[in-house]
Order: sequence, then structure tokens, then C-alpha cells
Amino acid sequence: MKKKTGGISLPAIEGGSPVRGELLPFSPPLIGREEIDGVTAVLKSGWITRGRKCEEFERALENYTGAKNAVVLSSATAGLFLSLVIAGIGEGDEVITTPYTFAATANVVLHAGATPVFADIEPGTFLISAKEIEKSITPRTKALIPVDFAGDPVDIGELRAVAEEHGLRIIEDAAHAIGAGRKGVKVGNGPGVTVFSFHAVKNLTTGEGGAVLTDDEKLARMFRLYSLHGQTKDALAKLQAGGWRYDIEVPGYKCNMTDIQAAIGIGQLGRLDENVKTRGAIAKAYGEFLSGYEYVRVPGSARGFDHAWHLYPLLVDFTRLRLDRDRFIAALAAENVSSNVHYIPVHMMSYYKKRFDYSPSDFPESLAVFYREVSLPIYPGMGEREVSDVLEACAKLFSYYQT
Ligand SMILES: *Cc1c(COP(=O)(O)O)cnc(C)c1O
Repeated sequence: MKKKTGGISLPAIEGGSPVRGELLPFSPPLIGREEIDGVTAVLKSGWITRGRKCEEFERALENYTGAKNAVVLSSATAGLFLSLVIAGIGEGDEVITTPYTFAATANVVLHAGATPVFADIEPGTFLISAKEIEKSITPRTKALIPVDFAGDPVDIGELRAVAEEHGLRIIEDAAHAIGAGRKGVKVGNGPGVTVFSFHAVKNLTTGEGGAVLTDDEKLARMFRLYSLHGQTKDALAKLQAGGWRYDIEVPGYKCNMTDIQAAIGIGQLGRLDENVKTRGAIAKAYGEFLSGYEYVRVPGSARGFDHAWHLYPLLVDFTRLRLDRDRFIAALAAENVSSNVHYIPVHMMSYYKKRFDYSPSDFPESLAVFYREVSLPIYPGMGEREVSDVLEACAKLFSYYQT
């Protein structure tokens, strides 16, 4: 018997029936009563775009992280882009980031008119290497964008030392890392700028959305200004001041959050720690079982920090199995278990390849990780039954396909 999945034809495995009866999703959002009631209240309130709910969500994010200022936006991409624009980074400037990330991290550098320069990840981690950063610094380098991959925080102290020595800014891409911390200090709390994503699959979602966190009051004001046309007063401020007059200080952009989204975010934030704990318990169960396979490397925090477990990136040495990574993913799907790959390194994307003349082996650590990586499902609504189904499917494939 053969089963067709994603164009790849797979042999049936003993018994013929899949581990699960129906497809286990990869990372569905967990939406509670608070979000539904919060959105309903906003919709009935007569004020649906940026207003009091956004302000309330900002104060809640400040409270949660310990950062002095939070500004909510339409996306993390907007937050990263505005961070560059506000810093005056543009044509002729270089920004160093990791190739092992989602493309938005590098795209924003191009949007700002600057040049993204990649520094490879540190062996044994998914995180940008400080050594590789130092090798890539030139007189044109203006900023670093490290990524807290999968929810594992980068060693910001180490990166800050490099940044200070060379007069660089740090914009932390913490799209995966709300809820993560470093020895008890939450990601988002500290000097520089931290950017969160509230996209549908992230640890906290507002459907689409993001936030920037900074201890710098003036910088926070700039984010507010630049995210709403460069207008000196938003609509609520005008209403509260009782006046219609405003000024345009800069030709700003349009990337504010709405109160509808903020209402979702407030509900989500109330359950974030609980959700991160559930993610951690799933990761622990996965790790305990899968570390029994000598050709599998289970993820953990590179520096012993508080991982937020946005993703569970497993590394498998497929030379020890009779199938490659893509067929393994198809075989998991045949068992009704979704999985994914994070990420195709940015330098392998056709635009970057052509424009910067990259070959895949230019960043050998990223390339090696990419060929071995399989992300297993991990989400707060996942129960013990689902976790054991995933492990049973992995065990079934490993025992059937190992050489
Ligand atoms: C999701 C993601 C982004 C972009 O987030 P949006 O809110 O969708 O703009 C940026 N960087 C990384 C690493 C991401 O995973």
C-alpha cells in the first residue's frame, strides 16, 4: 500500500495505519474568553483603532518585561524597519544579522536603503556568532540585528561588548522570544531596542502585530511619531486635548496597532507565562525521549537562559537514516503529524543569492543546520496525547528507516 503526501510517495509502514486518525496541526493559536470578550467590548465601544486599549496593552507589556517604554505596532517587521530609520541608518550603511532567520530580519535593512551583511551562527547553536560578527565589521557597519531563535535569547552582554567597542546599535529581533529571559531578566528589559512579533503563530498573538521596547523615552516618542504619519498627536490625544490642530514633524509611516488587536493582546499576555510553561513541558518531554537517539540533537538554551520555546527545532543526522529531511517531513505527515522547517537561510533565497552573489556554503553552519532541521509541533493547547502521538510517529519512522 502506498500513501501520497505532498507529491512524495511513501511506502506504508508496518500495520499500514497512521499513528493518528486526523492531522495534528503545527501551531494553532490558543484564544480564550478574555480575548473574545475584549474584542467584543472594543467593537461596541465606538473606538476601534489606536486608542485606550493600545495604551493599556503598552502599559501591560512594560509591566510584564520591566522595560520603561513599549510601543505597539502593526508588525515586528515595522518595528525593525522603524528602528533603522529612526537611527538614521540608510544608504551606504551596513547592518550585520544572521542568515539563519526569517527573511523579514534582513529585508528591512534593504527597505531602509542599507546593506545586510550576514554573520554565521555559532556551531552547536542557532544563534549569531560574536566571532563572526567581529570578522564582518567594517567602517560602514552601523548596527547589529541578533535573533533570539526559537525563543532562546542571544547572549546580549557579549554582543553589547562588541557593539560598544565599535559604536554599533543593537536591535534585538525577539519575534520568537516574548516570555523568554536571561537569569530572571525578561527579554525586552535592557538598553537598546527589542522587537516582538504578535503574528498568528508567535508565542503571543494579536492576529498580526508587534511591539518595540526601549528604556529610552525619546526613542519611544520617535516610534510613536514615525508609526503614525509623523503626526504630533494621535486621534485620541486630539480628542483629549479638545483641539483639532496637529503638526507633521517628519514624513512618518502608517504602522500603528488597533484597539481591536490590543484587546486580543491584553488577554493573551495574561496567560503568557502559563503558555510558556506548557511549551517548556512539551519541550522537556520531547527532549527526554528523543535524546535517546544518537543521531538526533535536541534543542535547549545555548547559554542556559530561560527559553520561550516558540519552536522545537530538532536536528537529525539524516545520513543515518534511509530518507532525507524532506521525505522525513512527508513521512511524518503520512502519520498525520505536521512539521515544518525553520528556516531556509536568507542567503539561499533567490533575491539575496542573485543580488549578493552568495553560494549556499558561504555560511556553512547555517547550511549544515538547515539540512538537518525539523521543527516539531509545539503550542500551548497541546495535550499529553498529542505529545505522545508526535513521539510515537518519530519513533516509528526512526526504527523503520534507520540503517
Ligand atoms: C515572524 C518574524 C518576524 C516578522 O514578524 P511580523 O510580526 O510578521 O512582521 C521577524 N523576525 C523573525 C525571526 C520572525 O520569526
